Amino acid sequence: MRELFQWPTLKPLEECMVAEMTLANLGVRTSFWTGWSQIGMAVAAVVFAARPGAVVSLKSKYGSLKVAYSHGSPFRPYLAFGDELQILADGLASVTCEVCGRPGEYRGEYMGVYCETDNLLRTGAEPVRPQMPYLLEIQPAADELRLRQLTVPKGWSQLAYEIVRAREKSSLASVLRFVDAGDRLKLTGEHDDEHWARLQVEVEESSAATCRRCGRELDEATPGQGTCAGCRWLDTRGFEIVAAFVP
Ligand SMILES: [Zn+2]
Ligand SMILES: [Zn+2]
Repeated sequence: MRELFQWPTLKPLEECMVAEMTLANLGVRTSFWTGWSQIGMAVAAVVFAARPGAVVSLKSKYGSLKVAYSHGSPFRPYLAFGDELQILADGLASVTCEVCGRPGEYRGEYMGVYCETDNLLRTGAEPVRPQMPYLLEIQPAADELRLRQLTVPKGWSQLAYEIVRAREKSSLASVLRFVDAGDRLKLTGEHDDEHWARLQVEVEESSAATCRRCGRELDEATPGQGTCAGCRWLDTRGFEIVAAFVP
């Protein structure tokens, strides 16, 4: 049965919806939203291999996934897997959006794991299209840039802020502006000192190697495109928003 949310949400990944049905067909008791169903399915597969005929129950509790099983016939090769399975389930759940199954992270204010898009939808903000969660340093750097009325693609916030800091620490003039060149960031201004020239090279080189959306380093297989493989994969997985349920 599909849950009804009182806020708009991303439509779950299709594989999560399939896993949710399969879990129901297998009689596994679950108490989490669709986004964790694929993890539930992976756990159930191990438990049923270890203990055919087991009664399996999977619960969400404050952003972690609790695995419980009983009965069934213990089957030798997998007998000792219980603890590892709990650790694996919890590890996967801690990085998977409970709502939609995309990469997410724990959000203390909701005591749950959400992707960037679902987090914004829940707070009532304008959603970003699905992407990898921001690296830890990105948000504070973006806030600092906003204070200075500088705008850059959010994934490039940290490297841009480092440039700003470097210029502020020097005793040289620091009126600067960033220009989004798609696959890299450029620094413009009316300065011709050597320090400025070095910063211009630095910002171009570091942005060319960093995802403009999430701040991750680009892998060698996807250079020069400005977006990491994870964010681009998520682009292929749909961006449909389900309206809030109004009783
Ligand atoms: Zn989500
Ligand atoms: Zn990315």
